[in-house]
Amino acid sequence: MTDKSQINQTILQQNQNDFIVYNKQNAATLRIYNRDLEKQIKLKLAKNSVAQNIIKNIADNANFEIINEILTFQDLIYVSARCRQEIISDYHKSMIHEHQSSNKIIERISRIYYFSKMRKQIEDIIRKCNVCIQTKHSQHRFYELLKSLSTSDHA
Ligand SMILES: [Zn+2]
Repeated sequence: MTDKSQINQTILQQNQNDFIVYNKQNAATLRIYNRDLEKQIKLKLAKNSVAQNIIKNIADNANFEIINEILTFQDLIYVSARCRQEIISDYHKSMIHEHQSSNKIIERISRIYYFSKMRKQIEDIIRKCNVCIQTKHSQHRFYELLKSLSTSDHA
């Protein structure tokens, strides 16, 4: 059991002497690929009273841990409400060909980040995405076109 949690909490890092070393302190930040986002997560964490309460009593809760100034819950990065939209949008638009569906985004975000009501927030953002709204409209028009063509075939 100890072994499993140690593997989760550590990350392989190559140092200058080409030795592979475990570096837990860098784990949380390395997973956040965006430096601005990392700064925002730390900034909002400092202003989040719920999170600050958890940090104050962190010794009492084995699920929470501070790694490199970032609050983690069971090894996932805790995200304050004001940073969530940016993370979701980043993931939603990160595909080259098409915007990611909510299930794909949930799968990817929940491997790294922790926040409550994740599914609802992701679905809300996708519902308001202009590109997705446009795509849906053009797909609908294409379907209508196909339908009218097949109808005229039968006539
Ligand atoms: Zn979209």
